[in-house]
Amino acid sequence: MPHPTKPAWNCHNDACPVCTAPERDEMTLLRCAILTLLEHGRWMAADEIPLAEILSAGGDYLSGLAVGDDDTPVPAVEHWAWLDAELRLAVARAAGLDAVSTLDPRIDSVLATAARRSWRRQMDLLDLAAKQFTERHTRPRAA
Ligand SMILES: [Zn+2]
Repeated sequence: MPHPTKPAWNCHNDACPVCTAPERDEMTLLRCAILTLLEHGRWMAADEIPLAEILSAGGDYLSGLAVGDDDTPVPAVEHWAWLDAELRLAVARAAGLDAVSTLDPRIDSVLATAARRSWRRQMDLLDLAAKQFTERHTRPRAA
């Protein structure tokens, strides 16, 4: 688990559930990055960009997106592999896999199956992944 040294990130988007959550911490940048990728992924799916492509090179994608925009989360390069793995886990979970770890060996086949669905189904899947990810990371931890 990466531990960025920067203070809690804020993308300055009032609608961002991660950055406006009461429990912002050093992981906020990375969560915001994953949410941003899931949201962009919906539109990429609508453009019929293959799911495997949407779920890879997220750090590179965000870096390009962030040019001239300080409010786009850009994780450090050493976190990019982690970012991709978490993104794949979030989508595999949305597809119904009960994985708790990015190392779950079933993730690949679940994503391969999802990739064969229509772009509409993929869009729904990314939508669901964003919703689940938000719920998992913005709900105050149970006391
Ligand atoms: Zn944010």
